[in-house]
Amino acid sequence: MYDAIVIGAGPAGYVSAIKMAHLGLKVAVIEKEYAGGTCANKGCIPTKALLSASHLYHDIKSKAKQFGIEVEGLSLNFEKIKKHMEKSVLSSRKGVEYLFKKNKIDYIKGEAKLENPNKVRINDKILEGRNIVLATGSVPSIFPPFSDVPGIWTSDDFFKMEKLPESVVIVGGGVIGIEMATFLSFLGIPVFIVELMEHILPTEDADVANVVKKSLKILGAKIFESSKVIGLDKSGIGFKVTIESPNERFEIEAEKVLIAIGRKPLINDDIKSLGIKVERGIVTDENLRTNIENIYAIGDVRGKIMLAHAGFHEGVVAAKNIARIDAKVDLSAVPSVIFSYPEVTSVGLREKDADPSKIKVSKFPVSANGRANTMAERNGFAKVISDKESGKVLGVSVVGPMATELIMEGVIAVKEGLSIEKIAETIHPHPTLSEILLGAFEEAEGKAIHL
Ligand code: NAD
Repeated sequence: MYDAIVIGAGPAGYVSAIKMAHLGLKVAVIEKEYAGGTCANKGCIPTKALLSASHLYHDIKSKAKQFGIEVEGLSLNFEKIKKHMEKSVLSSRKGVEYLFKKNKIDYIKGEAKLENPNKVRINDKILEGRNIVLATGSVPSIFPPFSDVPGIWTSDDFFKMEKLPESVVIVGGGVIGIEMATFLSFLGIPVFIVELMEHILPTEDADVANVVKKSLKILGAKIFESSKVIGLDKSGIGFKVTIESPNERFEIEAEKVLIAIGRKPLINDDIKSLGIKVERGIVTDENLRTNIENIYAIGDVRGKIMLAHAGFHEGVVAAKNIARIDAKVDLSAVPSVIFSYPEVTSVGLREKDADPSKIKVSKFPVSANGRANTMAERNGFAKVISDKESGKVLGVSVVGPMATELIMEGVIAVKEGLSIEKIAETIHPHPTLSEILLGAFEEAEGKAIHL
C-alpha cells in the first residue's frame, strides 16, 4: 500500500510526489502521456524554445548592424528550430524522470481510473493508496464553429507543425495567442489576432498591453480587438474566417487557424462517479482536500490559477498535508509571466482593478535605464501600485526587456506587505534592468533619481 498515489506527472503532480518522498512517504505517480505534463511537453518549455530561436533571428535582423556585426546569407531552417524545441522538451521530461528515480518514486505509465477512494486501476493492474492526489491538468477549450471544421489548430497542434505556415489567424489574444503570435511575427509570418475583449492581454492593464500591441504591429501583425469570429470555412489556401469588429464585418483567408481561448480542467468520469465535488474544476478546501477526505486535487484540474508555478505551490501544500504537516494554499501573490515582445510580468493588484482614490500609481520608463540602452531596447515601463495611506506595495507590473526575470522583488514585496520605502532604500545593482523597477519605487516615494 502506497502512502499516496499521484495521478498526473505535470508540474503539480511531480512536485507533490517529490515533496512527499522528501517527507519520507512511499509514493507512486501514474502518467498516461509524458513526465512533465503540458508545461514540459506542449506548453511552457517548447514555446520558450521556439521563442528563444525566433528572438535571436529577429535580433540579428534588427540589431546586428547597429552593433557592428555584419551578417551575410542569414536564413531560417525550421527543421533545426524544431529539433532545438524537441531537445529542450526531452531534457525537461528526462529531468523529471530522473528526479522520480532519485527519490525512489514508482513511475507508472498508463491511464489511471479511480475504482474507489483507495484503489486505482491501470489496465489490469490495481494499486492501493492511503491518499490519492488528482493532478490531471487541463486541455485546450474548443467549441463551435471551431470544433466543427477539421484542421483547426489548438496549442497542442502548434508544436506538431512540420513546416512554417504561410499565414495564421489566431483566435484569442491571451497568453498563448500572444506568445505564438510573437514567435510567428519574429519570423516574418503574417498573423491576424482576433480578441473578444477591448484589448489583447485583457488580464493586464491597457497601458501594459498597448506596448506589446504596438510592437506586434511593427513586426507586421494585424490585431482586431472587441472582435469575434462569426464564420469559418475551408478555402483554397486553408481557411476563410469571417470576423465581426465593432464597425465592420470582413473576411480573412489564412493557411491556418489557431484557437487559443483558454483551457479547461481535465476531469474524467471516474472522478465524477465517485461523487467528488466539481464546479469549473475539482473543488477543494484550503488544504487542497476534496470532499472525500483522503483525495486531494492540485494544479490546473482545480480550475483556479492555471500556471505551472501555482501548481508547484499546490503540489507542496498537498504533500505537506498528506504528511500531516498543516499547510494552506496561498495564491495571493502569484506572478504572471508573458513571453511577448517586450515581455510582460505582473503580481498582485492591477491598476484597472483598484479603487483610484485608495492607491498611488508610479511608473519608470525603460528608455531611462542604462542597461536597456546598451541593449538597444527602449520600449516599456515598470509600474508600482501602492496603498495611499500605508505605502504598502499592492501590485507591480513590468513590460520591457527580460521583464519576466525582474518580478521576484515585486512578488516578495506584495506577499510580505513591504512598503515602497523599504524597496526604494534597497541597493540595486548597476547597470541592470532591475533599476527600472527601482525607479518606479523611487517615483512612488517622491522622485526617481534617474528621471
Ligand atoms: P487566456 O485566458 O490567457 O486567453 C484567452 C483569450 O481569448 C482571452 O484574451 C479572451 O478574452 C479571448 N477569447 C475568449 N473567447 C474568445 C472568442 N470567442 N473570440 C476571441 N477571443 C476570445 O487563455 P490561453 O491563452 O488559451 O492560455 C490558457 C492557459 O494557459 C491560461 O491559464 C494561461 O495563463 C496559461 N499559459 C500561461 C503561459 C505563461 O505563463 N507564460 C503561457 C501560455 C499559457
